Amino acid sequence: MTTPQTLRELSCADDYDPNSMPVDKARAHIRTFLTPLTATERVHVRAALGRVLAEDIRSPIAVPGHDNSAMDGYAVRFDDLRSDGPVTLKVTGSSFAGKPFGETVSAGEAVRIMTGGALPSGADTVVMQEVTQRPADGAVTIPPLMEAKIRARGGNTRKAGEDLKIGTMALARGTRITPAELGLVASLGISEISVYRKLRVAFFSTGDELRAIGQPLAAGEIYDSNRYTIFGMLQRLHCEVIDMGVVVDRQEAVEKAFAEAAGAADVVITSGGVSVGEADYVKAALDKLGEVLFWKIAMKPGRPLAYGKLGHAHFFGLPGNPVAVMVTFYQFVREALLTLAGQTQVRPLPTLQAVLRSPIKKASGRVEFQRGIFVQDADGGYSVTVTGDQGSAILSSMTQANCFIILDTATGNLPAGETVRVQMFEGIV
Ligand code: AMP
Ligand code: MG
Repeated sequence: MTTPQTLRELSCADDYDPNSMPVDKARAHIRTFLTPLTATERVHVRAALGRVLAEDIRSPIAVPGHDNSAMDGYAVRFDDLRSDGPVTLKVTGSSFAGKPFGETVSAGEAVRIMTGGALPSGADTVVMQEVTQRPADGAVTIPPLMEAKIRARGGNTRKAGEDLKIGTMALARGTRITPAELGLVASLGISEISVYRKLRVAFFSTGDELRAIGQPLAAGEIYDSNRYTIFGMLQRLHCEVIDMGVVVDRQEAVEKAFAEAAGAADVVITSGGVSVGEADYVKAALDKLGEVLFWKIAMKPGRPLAYGKLGHAHFFGLPGNPVAVMVTFYQFVREALLTLAGQTQVRPLPTLQAVLRSPIKKASGRVEFQRGIFVQDADGGYSVTVTGDQGSAILSSMTQANCFIILDTATGNLPAGETVRVQMFEGIV
Protein backbone atom coordinates (compact mmCIF):
# COMPACT_ATOMS: atom_id res chain seq x y z
CA MET A 1 0.00 0.00 0.00
CA THR A 2 1.38 3.43 -0.87
CA THR A 3 0.95 6.12 1.74
CA PRO A 4 -2.43 7.79 1.32
CA GLN A 5 -2.38 11.56 0.93
CA THR A 6 -5.97 12.06 1.99
CA LEU A 7 -8.33 10.36 4.37
CA ARG A 8 -10.57 9.54 1.41
CA GLU A 9 -7.73 7.69 -0.34
CA LEU A 10 -7.06 5.83 2.86
CA SER A 11 -10.66 4.72 3.25
CA CYS A 12 -10.60 3.37 -0.32
CA ALA A 13 -7.38 1.37 0.14
CA ASP A 14 -7.69 -2.36 -0.63
CA ASP A 15 -6.78 -3.70 2.78
CA TYR A 16 -8.61 -1.02 4.72
CA ASP A 17 -11.25 -2.50 7.02
CA PRO A 18 -12.85 0.03 9.39
CA ASN A 19 -14.70 -2.76 11.21
CA SER A 20 -11.58 -4.53 12.35
CA MET A 21 -8.77 -2.06 12.66
CA PRO A 22 -5.63 -3.34 14.42
CA VAL A 23 -4.15 -0.92 16.98
CA ASP A 24 -0.80 -0.63 15.18
CA LYS A 25 -2.45 -0.02 11.83
CA ALA A 26 -4.70 2.71 13.20
CA ARG A 27 -1.68 4.34 14.80
CA ALA A 28 0.26 4.12 11.55
CA HIS A 29 -2.65 5.60 9.57
CA ILE A 30 -2.96 8.52 11.97
CA ARG A 31 0.79 9.12 11.79
CA THR A 32 0.67 9.74 8.02
CA PHE A 33 -1.59 12.76 8.54
CA LEU A 34 0.35 14.54 11.26
CA THR A 35 2.05 17.78 10.30
CA PRO A 36 3.83 19.38 13.26
CA LEU A 37 3.11 23.00 14.06
CA THR A 38 5.75 25.54 13.15
CA ALA A 39 4.91 28.72 15.13
CA THR A 40 7.49 29.51 17.78
CA GLU A 41 7.95 31.80 20.75
CA ARG A 42 10.93 32.78 22.86
CA VAL A 43 10.72 31.96 26.54
CA HIS A 44 12.94 32.22 29.57
CA VAL A 45 14.69 28.95 30.26
CA ARG A 46 12.54 28.03 33.28
CA ALA A 47 9.33 28.63 31.38
CA ALA A 48 10.55 26.12 28.80
CA LEU A 49 10.09 23.11 31.07
CA GLY A 50 7.93 20.58 29.22
CA ARG A 51 7.98 22.58 25.98
CA VAL A 52 9.53 21.49 22.67
CA LEU A 53 12.73 23.16 21.51
CA ALA A 54 12.26 24.94 18.17
CA GLU A 55 15.96 25.58 17.41
CA ASP A 56 19.21 23.66 17.42
CA ILE A 57 21.36 24.83 20.31
CA ARG A 58 25.07 24.78 19.60
CA SER A 59 27.37 25.31 22.50
CA PRO A 60 28.69 28.92 22.48
CA ILE A 61 31.31 28.02 25.11
CA ALA A 62 33.29 25.00 26.24
CA VAL A 63 31.87 23.25 29.28
CA PRO A 64 33.80 23.14 31.49
CA GLY A 65 35.75 26.16 30.36
CA HIS A 66 39.08 25.02 31.84
CA ASP A 67 40.89 21.85 32.90
CA ASN A 68 39.98 21.33 36.55
CA SER A 69 40.22 18.95 39.45
CA ALA A 70 37.85 16.02 39.99
CA MET A 71 39.05 15.64 43.60
CA ASP A 72 40.18 17.53 46.64
CA GLY A 73 43.96 17.12 46.74
CA TYR A 74 47.16 18.47 45.19
CA ALA A 75 47.81 19.59 41.63
CA VAL A 76 51.22 18.30 40.58
CA ARG A 77 53.42 17.59 37.57
CA PHE A 78 53.14 13.92 36.67
CA ASP A 79 56.86 13.85 35.87
CA ASP A 80 57.61 14.64 39.54
CA LEU A 81 55.88 11.47 40.77
CA ARG A 82 57.71 8.18 41.17
CA SER A 83 56.72 4.56 40.97
CA ASP A 84 59.49 3.34 43.28
CA GLY A 85 59.03 5.56 46.30
CA PRO A 86 57.39 8.65 47.83
CA VAL A 87 58.23 12.22 46.86
CA THR A 88 57.90 15.37 48.91
CA LEU A 89 56.87 18.53 47.05
CA LYS A 90 56.75 22.18 48.07
CA VAL A 91 53.19 23.54 48.37
CA THR A 92 53.23 26.96 46.76
CA GLY A 93 49.56 27.99 46.86
CA SER A 94 45.98 26.95 46.35
CA SER A 95 43.35 26.70 43.61
CA PHE A 96 39.77 26.61 44.81
CA ALA A 97 36.65 26.45 42.63
CA GLY A 98 36.26 29.98 41.30
CA LYS A 99 39.56 31.11 42.84
CA PRO A 100 42.37 29.98 40.54
CA PHE A 101 46.07 29.91 41.36
CA GLY A 102 47.51 32.65 39.21
CA GLU A 103 51.01 31.24 38.81
CA THR A 104 52.75 28.23 37.32
CA VAL A 105 53.59 24.99 39.11
CA SER A 106 57.28 24.30 38.57
CA ALA A 107 59.24 21.08 39.04
CA GLY A 108 59.19 19.96 42.67
CA GLU A 109 56.08 22.00 43.46
CA ALA A 110 52.42 21.25 44.25
CA VAL A 111 49.30 23.39 44.68
CA ARG A 112 46.48 22.61 47.08
CA ILE A 113 43.40 22.13 44.88
CA MET A 114 39.67 21.55 45.49
CA THR A 115 37.11 19.82 43.30
CA GLY A 116 36.27 22.12 40.39
CA GLY A 117 39.37 24.27 41.01
CA ALA A 118 41.14 25.26 37.77
CA LEU A 119 44.24 23.17 37.11
CA PRO A 120 47.16 25.65 37.33
CA SER A 121 49.55 25.90 34.40
CA GLY A 122 52.45 23.52 34.73
CA ALA A 123 50.37 20.95 36.65
CA ASP A 124 48.75 18.08 34.76
CA THR A 125 47.67 15.62 37.45
CA VAL A 126 45.84 15.72 40.79
CA VAL A 127 46.73 13.51 43.76
CA MET A 128 43.80 12.93 46.06
CA GLN A 129 44.33 14.28 49.53
CA GLU A 130 43.48 10.97 51.28
CA VAL A 131 46.77 9.36 50.13
CA THR A 132 49.01 12.31 51.02
CA GLN A 133 50.81 13.37 54.16
CA ARG A 134 51.87 16.84 55.31
CA PRO A 135 55.30 16.37 56.95
CA ALA A 136 55.55 20.12 57.57
CA ASP A 137 53.78 23.36 56.69
CA GLY A 138 54.36 24.07 53.02
CA ALA A 139 55.19 20.47 52.09
CA VAL A 140 53.26 17.43 50.92
CA THR A 141 54.44 13.84 50.63
CA ILE A 142 53.00 11.71 47.86
CA PRO A 143 53.30 7.92 47.92
CA PRO A 144 54.45 5.88 44.88
CA LEU A 145 52.13 6.02 41.85
CA MET A 146 50.29 2.74 42.51
CA GLU A 147 49.58 3.67 46.11
CA ALA A 148 48.55 7.19 45.05
CA LYS A 149 46.08 5.53 42.62
CA ILE A 150 47.54 7.48 39.70
CA ARG A 151 47.67 5.44 36.53
CA ALA A 152 48.66 8.07 34.01
CA ARG A 153 49.29 11.73 33.40
CA GLY A 154 46.01 13.62 33.79
CA GLY A 155 44.78 11.45 36.67
CA ASN A 156 41.86 12.95 38.68
CA THR A 157 41.46 15.88 36.30
CA ARG A 158 38.58 16.91 34.08
CA LYS A 159 39.36 18.33 30.67
CA ALA A 160 38.08 21.63 29.30
CA GLY A 161 35.17 20.91 26.92
CA GLU A 162 34.76 17.29 28.06
CA ASP A 163 31.02 17.89 28.56
CA LEU A 164 30.49 20.19 25.56
CA LYS A 165 33.04 21.58 23.14
CA ILE A 166 32.53 25.01 21.54
CA GLY A 167 30.21 24.59 18.56
CA THR A 168 28.97 21.10 19.52
CA MET A 169 25.29 20.43 18.92
CA ALA A 170 24.13 20.50 22.53
CA LEU A 171 20.39 20.05 21.93
CA ALA A 172 18.51 19.38 18.71
CA ARG A 173 15.33 21.07 17.56
CA GLY A 174 12.36 18.89 18.49
CA THR A 175 13.73 17.95 21.91
CA ARG A 176 11.22 17.92 24.76
CA ILE A 177 12.66 20.05 27.58
CA THR A 178 13.02 18.08 30.82
CA PRO A 179 14.95 19.16 33.94
CA ALA A 180 18.21 17.88 32.41
CA GLU A 181 17.76 20.10 29.34
CA LEU A 182 17.02 23.11 31.56
CA GLY A 183 20.30 22.52 33.38
CA LEU A 184 22.24 21.98 30.16
CA VAL A 185 20.90 25.22 28.65
CA ALA A 186 21.83 27.06 31.85
CA SER A 187 25.34 25.51 31.78
CA LEU A 188 25.80 27.28 28.43
CA GLY A 189 24.82 30.63 29.94
CA ILE A 190 21.72 30.84 27.72
CA SER A 191 18.72 32.53 29.33
CA GLU A 192 16.11 32.48 26.55
CA ILE A 193 15.30 29.78 24.04
CA SER A 194 12.92 29.32 21.16
CA VAL A 195 10.13 26.76 21.66
CA TYR A 196 7.09 25.79 19.59
CA ARG A 197 3.91 27.44 20.72
CA LYS A 198 1.70 25.14 22.76
CA LEU A 199 -0.63 22.85 20.90
CA ARG A 200 -4.23 24.06 21.32
CA VAL A 201 -6.60 21.26 22.11
CA ALA A 202 -10.36 21.79 22.40
CA PHE A 203 -12.45 19.06 23.99
CA PHE A 204 -16.03 18.42 24.96
CA SER A 205 -18.22 15.58 26.17
CA THR A 206 -21.40 14.46 24.45
CA GLY A 207 -24.41 12.89 26.12
CA ASP A 208 -27.81 13.87 27.49
CA GLU A 209 -27.09 11.89 30.64
CA LEU A 210 -24.07 13.98 31.61
CA ARG A 211 -24.10 16.63 34.32
CA ALA A 212 -21.27 18.95 35.22
CA ILE A 213 -19.96 18.70 38.77
CA GLY A 214 -21.80 21.08 41.12
CA GLN A 215 -25.19 20.23 39.63
CA PRO A 216 -27.61 17.78 41.26
CA LEU A 217 -28.15 14.46 39.48
CA ALA A 218 -31.63 13.49 38.31
CA ALA A 219 -32.59 9.84 37.81
CA GLY A 220 -30.43 8.19 35.14
CA GLU A 221 -27.86 10.96 35.05
CA ILE A 222 -24.15 10.69 35.76
CA TYR A 223 -21.38 13.18 36.30
CA ASP A 224 -19.17 13.97 33.34
CA SER A 225 -15.83 12.47 34.35
CA ASN A 226 -14.20 12.20 30.93
CA ARG A 227 -13.65 15.92 30.67
CA TYR A 228 -11.54 15.70 33.81
CA THR A 229 -9.38 12.77 32.77
CA ILE A 230 -8.91 14.35 29.33
CA PHE A 231 -8.05 17.70 30.94
CA GLY A 232 -5.48 15.95 33.15
CA MET A 233 -3.91 13.99 30.32
CA LEU A 234 -3.66 17.12 28.16
CA GLN A 235 -2.14 19.18 30.97
CA ARG A 236 0.55 16.59 31.49
CA LEU A 237 1.40 16.82 27.80
CA HIS A 238 1.74 20.61 28.14
CA CYS A 239 -1.12 21.41 25.78
CA GLU A 240 -3.16 24.59 25.91
CA VAL A 241 -6.61 23.30 26.81
CA ILE A 242 -9.94 24.69 25.64
CA ASP A 243 -12.68 23.06 27.73
CA MET A 244 -15.99 23.34 25.87
CA GLY A 245 -18.15 21.59 28.42
CA VAL A 246 -20.95 19.11 27.80
CA VAL A 247 -22.82 19.09 24.51
CA VAL A 248 -26.30 17.55 24.39
CA ASP A 249 -27.17 14.79 21.93
CA ARG A 250 -28.74 17.04 19.27
CA GLN A 251 -27.44 17.39 15.76
CA GLU A 252 -27.37 21.21 15.72
CA ALA A 253 -25.72 21.42 19.13
CA VAL A 254 -23.04 18.91 18.15
CA GLU A 255 -22.49 20.56 14.78
CA LYS A 256 -22.07 23.97 16.37
CA ALA A 257 -19.64 22.62 18.94
CA PHE A 258 -17.51 20.85 16.31
CA ALA A 259 -17.36 23.99 14.16
CA GLU A 260 -16.40 26.18 17.10
CA ALA A 261 -13.77 23.73 18.34
CA ALA A 262 -12.22 23.27 14.90
CA GLY A 263 -11.96 27.04 14.49
CA ALA A 264 -10.26 27.54 17.83
CA ALA A 265 -7.88 24.61 18.11
CA ASP A 266 -5.21 22.50 16.42
CA VAL A 267 -6.82 19.35 17.75
CA VAL A 268 -10.41 18.53 18.75
CA ILE A 269 -11.11 15.67 21.14
CA THR A 270 -14.56 14.46 22.08
CA SER A 271 -15.75 11.54 24.15
CA GLY A 272 -18.92 9.54 23.65
CA GLY A 273 -21.29 9.51 20.74
CA VAL A 274 -19.18 7.40 18.37
CA SER A 275 -20.58 3.98 19.25
CA VAL A 276 -23.10 2.18 17.06
CA GLY A 277 -26.54 3.77 17.21
CA GLU A 278 -25.20 7.11 18.35
CA ALA A 279 -22.75 7.69 15.55
CA ASP A 280 -25.38 8.65 13.04
CA TYR A 281 -25.87 12.28 13.90
CA VAL A 282 -22.26 12.74 15.02
CA LYS A 283 -21.25 11.23 11.71
CA ALA A 284 -23.61 13.51 9.81
CA ALA A 285 -22.22 16.55 11.62
CA LEU A 286 -18.63 15.49 10.97
CA ASP A 287 -19.24 14.65 7.31
CA LYS A 288 -20.55 18.16 6.86
CA LEU A 289 -17.52 19.80 8.49
CA GLY A 290 -14.66 17.62 7.40
CA GLU A 291 -13.42 14.13 6.64
CA VAL A 292 -13.62 11.68 9.47
CA LEU A 293 -13.12 7.92 9.55
CA PHE A 294 -14.99 5.73 12.00
CA TRP A 295 -13.11 2.68 13.16
CA LYS A 296 -13.88 -0.35 15.23
CA ILE A 297 -10.49 -1.00 16.74
CA ALA A 298 -9.57 -4.60 17.54
CA MET A 299 -8.92 -3.72 21.16
CA LYS A 300 -10.60 -3.74 24.54
CA PRO A 301 -11.50 -1.38 25.99
CA GLY A 302 -11.78 1.25 23.28
CA ARG A 303 -13.52 -0.33 20.34
CA PRO A 304 -15.12 2.68 18.66
CA LEU A 305 -12.74 5.43 17.58
CA ALA A 306 -13.12 8.22 15.07
CA TYR A 307 -10.19 10.04 13.50
CA GLY A 308 -10.04 12.71 10.86
CA LYS A 309 -9.68 16.36 9.95
CA LEU A 310 -12.12 19.17 10.60
CA GLY A 311 -10.68 21.89 8.42
CA HIS A 312 -7.10 22.24 9.66
CA ALA A 313 -7.84 20.63 13.01
CA HIS A 314 -7.17 16.98 13.76
CA PHE A 315 -10.13 15.23 15.29
CA PHE A 316 -10.21 12.32 17.72
CA GLY A 317 -13.61 10.94 18.65
CA LEU A 318 -12.95 8.78 21.69
CA PRO A 319 -15.41 6.25 23.10
CA GLY A 320 -17.67 7.30 25.99
CA ASN A 321 -16.70 4.77 28.59
CA PRO A 322 -14.23 6.32 31.03
CA VAL A 323 -11.56 3.61 30.90
CA ALA A 324 -11.84 3.39 27.12
CA VAL A 325 -11.22 7.15 26.97
CA MET A 326 -7.96 6.81 28.85
CA VAL A 327 -6.76 3.74 26.97
CA THR A 328 -7.46 5.21 23.53
CA PHE A 329 -5.91 8.52 24.56
CA TYR A 330 -2.69 6.80 25.63
CA GLN A 331 -2.55 4.46 22.65
CA PHE A 332 -3.45 6.91 19.87
CA VAL A 333 -3.82 10.52 20.94
CA ARG A 334 -0.73 10.88 23.09
CA GLU A 335 1.72 10.04 20.31
CA ALA A 336 -0.18 12.24 17.84
CA LEU A 337 -0.16 15.24 20.19
CA LEU A 338 3.55 14.90 20.89
CA THR A 339 4.30 14.77 17.17
CA LEU A 340 2.00 17.70 16.34
CA ALA A 341 3.65 19.72 19.11
CA GLY A 342 6.96 19.45 17.25
CA GLN A 343 8.66 16.70 19.24
CA THR A 344 10.86 14.66 16.90
CA GLN A 345 11.79 11.56 18.90
CA VAL A 346 8.36 10.19 19.74
CA ARG A 347 9.10 6.63 20.72
CA PRO A 348 6.65 3.86 21.54
CA LEU A 349 6.20 3.56 25.28
CA PRO A 350 8.47 0.95 26.83
CA THR A 351 7.02 -2.28 28.21
CA LEU A 352 8.35 -4.61 30.91
CA GLN A 353 7.88 -8.32 31.52
CA ALA A 354 6.16 -9.36 34.73
CA VAL A 355 4.86 -12.62 36.17
CA LEU A 356 1.10 -12.86 36.59
CA ARG A 357 0.06 -13.41 40.20
CA SER A 358 -3.61 -13.95 39.32
CA PRO A 359 -5.25 -15.65 36.34
CA ILE A 360 -6.51 -13.52 33.46
CA LYS A 361 -9.69 -13.89 31.46
CA LYS A 362 -9.37 -12.85 27.86
CA ALA A 363 -10.92 -13.68 24.51
CA SER A 364 -8.55 -13.95 21.55
CA GLY A 365 -9.01 -11.77 18.48
CA ARG A 366 -8.23 -8.36 19.93
CA VAL A 367 -5.60 -6.64 22.03
CA GLU A 368 -6.60 -6.03 25.63
CA PHE A 369 -5.31 -3.36 27.98
CA GLN A 370 -6.19 -4.76 31.40
CA ARG A 371 -5.38 -2.75 34.48
CA GLY A 372 -2.73 -4.18 36.75
CA ILE A 373 -0.87 -3.57 39.97
CA PHE A 374 2.82 -4.02 39.34
CA VAL A 375 5.23 -4.75 42.20
CA GLN A 376 8.88 -5.57 42.54
CA ASP A 377 9.32 -8.79 44.53
CA ALA A 378 11.84 -9.30 47.31
CA ASP A 379 14.08 -11.23 44.87
CA GLY A 380 14.10 -8.26 42.48
CA GLY A 381 11.74 -9.82 39.91
CA TYR A 382 8.54 -8.14 38.76
CA SER A 383 5.02 -9.40 39.23
CA VAL A 384 1.58 -8.07 38.41
CA THR A 385 -1.97 -8.63 39.66
CA VAL A 386 -5.08 -7.73 37.72
CA THR A 387 -7.34 -5.19 39.45
CA GLY A 388 -10.86 -6.52 39.93
CA ASP A 389 -13.62 -5.87 37.40
CA GLN A 390 -12.17 -5.01 33.98
CA GLY A 391 -15.33 -3.31 32.68
CA SER A 392 -14.65 -0.25 30.54
CA ALA A 393 -16.81 1.88 32.84
CA ILE A 394 -14.85 0.95 36.00
CA LEU A 395 -12.72 4.07 36.32
CA SER A 396 -11.58 3.00 39.80
CA SER A 397 -9.61 0.24 38.02
CA MET A 398 -7.39 3.05 36.67
CA THR A 399 -6.87 4.65 40.08
CA GLN A 400 -6.05 1.29 41.71
CA ALA A 401 -3.73 0.22 38.93
CA ASN A 402 -0.25 1.47 38.15
CA CYS A 403 0.11 -0.23 34.76
CA PHE A 404 -1.63 -1.69 31.76
CA ILE A 405 -1.23 -5.40 31.18
CA ILE A 406 -1.03 -5.63 27.39
CA LEU A 407 -2.40 -8.89 26.06
CA ASP A 408 -1.82 -9.49 22.36
CA THR A 409 -4.48 -10.43 19.84
CA ALA A 410 -3.81 -14.18 19.85
CA THR A 411 -3.65 -14.50 23.64
CA GLY A 412 -6.57 -16.22 25.41
CA ASN A 413 -7.11 -16.97 29.11
CA LEU A 414 -3.89 -17.06 31.10
CA PRO A 415 -3.15 -18.89 34.36
CA ALA A 416 -1.15 -17.33 37.20
CA GLY A 417 2.56 -17.81 36.64
CA GLU A 418 2.57 -16.78 32.97
CA THR A 419 4.79 -13.90 31.90
CA VAL A 420 2.96 -10.85 30.52
CA ARG A 421 3.88 -7.47 29.12
CA VAL A 422 3.08 -4.38 31.18
CA GLN A 423 3.28 -0.67 30.46
CA MET A 424 3.74 1.59 33.48
CA PHE A 425 1.37 4.52 33.86
CA GLU A 426 4.06 6.79 35.27
CA GLY A 427 5.88 8.12 32.26
CA ILE A 428 3.04 7.55 29.81
CA VAL A 429 2.32 11.24 30.08
P1 AMP B 1 -21.54 6.55 24.32
O1 AMP B 1 -20.34 6.19 23.54
O2 AMP B 1 -21.90 7.99 24.20
O3 AMP B 1 -22.67 5.63 24.05
O4 AMP B 1 -21.14 6.34 25.84
C1 AMP B 1 -20.79 5.07 26.33
C2 AMP B 1 -20.87 5.06 27.84
O5 AMP B 1 -19.98 6.01 28.37
C3 AMP B 1 -22.24 5.42 28.38
O6 AMP B 1 -22.49 4.62 29.52
C4 AMP B 1 -22.07 6.87 28.78
O7 AMP B 1 -22.96 7.26 29.81
C5 AMP B 1 -20.65 6.91 29.24
N1 AMP B 1 -20.10 8.23 29.09
C6 AMP B 1 -20.11 8.96 27.95
N2 AMP B 1 -19.53 10.15 28.14
C7 AMP B 1 -19.15 10.20 29.42
C8 AMP B 1 -18.51 11.17 30.24
N3 AMP B 1 -18.14 12.34 29.73
N4 AMP B 1 -18.27 10.90 31.54
C9 AMP B 1 -18.63 9.70 32.04
N5 AMP B 1 -19.22 8.73 31.33
C10 AMP B 1 -19.51 8.97 30.03
MG1 MG C 1 -23.54 9.10 24.51
